[in-house]
Amino acid sequence: MKNIKEALGAQGVHTLIAQFTDIHGVAKGKWVPLAHLDDLLTEGVGFSGPSIAGTGLPRMGPRSEYYGRGLASTARALPWMPGYARIVCDGFVAGEPFDACPRQVLRRQVGRLADRGWTLHTGIEPEFFLLRRTAHGFEPADADDRLAKPSYDLRSLPRQSEFLSQLSAGLIACGLDVLQVDHEDANGQYEINFEHADALASADNVMLFKLAAHTLAERHGMQFSMMPKPFSDQPGSGMHFHVSLWEGAGDNMRCLFRDPGGNASRGLSPLARHFIAGVLQHSTALCALAAPTVNSYKRLTVGNSLSGTTWAPAYIAHGPNNRTALVRTLSDRFEWRLPDASANPYLATAALIAAGLDGIDRQLDPGAACTSDLFDSTPAERGDRGITSLPSNLFEAVCALDADTVLQAALGDALCEQFIGAKRAEWITYSNHVSDWEMQRYATAF
Ligand code: GLU
Ligand code: MG
Repeated sequence: MKNIKEALGAQGVHTLIAQFTDIHGVAKGKWVPLAHLDDLLTEGVGFSGPSIAGTGLPRMGPRSEYYGRGLASTARALPWMPGYARIVCDGFVAGEPFDACPRQVLRRQVGRLADRGWTLHTGIEPEFFLLRRTAHGFEPADADDRLAKPSYDLRSLPRQSEFLSQLSAGLIACGLDVLQVDHEDANGQYEINFEHADALASADNVMLFKLAAHTLAERHGMQFSMMPKPFSDQPGSGMHFHVSLWEGAGDNMRCLFRDPGGNASRGLSPLARHFIAGVLQHSTALCALAAPTVNSYKRLTVGNSLSGTTWAPAYIAHGPNNRTALVRTLSDRFEWRLPDASANPYLATAALIAAGLDGIDRQLDPGAACTSDLFDSTPAERGDRGITSLPSNLFEAVCALDADTVLQAALGDALCEQFIGAKRAEWITYSNHVSDWEMQRYATAF
C-alpha cells in the first residue's frame, strides 16, 4: 500500500477519485485525499445507500451505508485532470460484497468461469455523439459535419482533433491500448476502440473512457452523449462486444473459441458455437441489459437512416462476418452487436456470460449460419429459416427478463428487483407521455 501511495505521490497525485458504477452504468463516487488511500483500500469510502440509483438500501440502520472499496491495481493518474487518480471500487454493505452492485454481479459470473479454469475477454467498442445545445434540443457540435454518408470521414476528424487526441492520449497514458478512432455513420458520431481485456478490466476501461469523454467534452463546450439513438434519421450508437473465451494464463493462454481444425477460416470451436447458441436463445431477455432504455429500441431497426442503413441488429441470427446479424462470427471470437451505448458494461457482460454458459451446459446448437444480407430479407424468408426478431420495445424486453430464470439466477434477486422495477417505471413514464409526434399526427386528424 505504501508503494502505491508513494508511486501516486511521485506522479503528483493529491486526490483519488473513488469511483463505482450504479445500475444505469453511470460513474459515481467521491474525491478522497491521497493521505486516506489506506482507508479507501481497506474499509472503503462510505455513501448513503438510498442516494445511489438501484441499491434498494434502507434509509437507516447498518444496511443503509454503501461502501466503495478501492482496488489498488486499478489506480491510474488522469492526465486530463493533473493531480487526480481514479480508483475503481467494488460495492460492500455491512462488510459483505453487495449483491446489487453491478461490478459484484459481474464478479460472480467471472467466478463461475474461473471455476472451470476459463477467462472471458471482451473488446468493447463504444460509439458516441459530440453534440451542442440549441434552443430546441441538441445538434452535432461540428456544424460542418453534414455528409449524407459520413462513415470514416477524414475531413471532420481534424475539426474535433483537440477532443479526440486528448481523449486518446489520456486513455493511452492510463494504460489502455487504443487501437483506432474514427468517424461513424451519423453526423456528429465517433467511435474509439481499445484492446480487449478480461471482462472486469474491459468494463472498468469503458467507465474510464466515459469519465474522460464527459470531462473533455465539457471543456470544449460540447455534450458527450451515449444516448442510443439521438436523431431519428441517423444511425444510433452501438457498443459492440468482441467476445472470446480463454484457458490458462500468460504465455500459456489458449483460445477456447479457436476452430480445433486449426484453420481459423473454417469457423469456431464447438464450445464457441454452444456459447453463441446460448446468447441467441436468451437474446430477448438480454435486450433488457444490453439495450436498457426506451430509446434503445429506436436503434434496433432496419433501414431508417440517411446513410441507407442503421447497421444495428434487428433479427436473432449469426453469420460469418455478417454485420446484419446479431452475432457476427470471426476467427477465434464473435462480435455481439446487440449492446448499445447506454448499456451498463458490467451488467451486460454478466448477462452475456450467463447466457453463454447456459448454451455450453445444455450443448445448444446455434443453427445454420446466415450468409445473406438480413436487412434485405423478407418476413417469409426469415420465417422459413426460423429467424425471429428482437423485441420492439423496452417493455417486451423487461417482461422477457422477468421470465428468464437463467439470467435472473445469474444477476441475483436483489439486482433483478431493482433493475426490473426501474425499467418498468421508465416504460410507464414514457407511455404516459404525449409526444410532439402524436400531436402532429392526431390533433387535427379526426
Ligand atoms: N452504429 C451501428 C450500431 O448502432 C454500428 C455501426 C458499425 O458497425 O460500426 O450498432
Ligand atoms: Mg462502429
